[in-house]
Amino acid sequence: MSFGGLINYFKDIFFPVSCLNCNKEGSFVCEECLQTLDLSGVFCCPTCHKETKNGEYCNNCETTFIARHIAVTKYDEKTLIGEIIHSFKYQYVEELQIAITKMLEFFLSHYELKDIDVITFVPLHHRRYVERGFNQAEKIALVIGKILDKPTENLLKRVRYTEPQAKFKRQERLTNLQDAFAFDNKNVFVGKNILLVDDVFTTGSTIQECAKVLKNSGVEKVIGFSLARG
Ligand SMILES: [Zn+2]
Ligand SMILES: [Zn+2]
Repeated sequence: MSFGGLINYFKDIFFPVSCLNCNKEGSFVCEECLQTLDLSGVFCCPTCHKETKNGEYCNNCETTFIARHIAVTKYDEKTLIGEIIHSFKYQYVEELQIAITKMLEFFLSHYELKDIDVITFVPLHHRRYVERGFNQAEKIALVIGKILDKPTENLLKRVRYTEPQAKFKRQERLTNLQDAFAFDNKNVFVGKNILLVDDVFTTGSTIQECAKVLKNSGVEKVIGFSLARG
């Protein structure tokens, strides 16, 4: 047995993992439960959430900072996807990343993401990053970068500590995030097309606020991407 194998062997003895959905031992999301997820993609207008081709804006909404938005699956906090995202947000576990990688691999083998130069992600405030030890959006972005064979870059930082968006109503969410982000990279990304990744898209205000900063820094196009969309 390899050293890694030995570690996994002891991990399984002392910390047996079981499926978040059916409790079957062995993985956080078992194969059967993973296959119950609809991973065919969610393509809706970023503003009014009406279904559109490729997640572009509908005829009634004006294009703002992101060009369009793509999600792998629908978000529902009471189902398996809610469990996966909630667990992934608060505890980084390799087994959960395996499940998320499988979801992204499946989606991206059916949906071609063209014209992307660089992948980036919604940053956590330094304080929250220290609390959690990782940024779930960054983890997702890194997986996508690997699948698409594109560079993943940290382009943004939070310059202001904000209360969690979930606490606020739609309009308050925008105010809460005002000037919360800044461009934070020594390199120039003028004219580049960026894929901006987050774990969940709800009203879209976080991704739009980040995209605004990227656009103001000279980026050509920002495409929003999230694992799930509420
Ligand atoms: Zn299961
Ligand atoms: Zn619309």
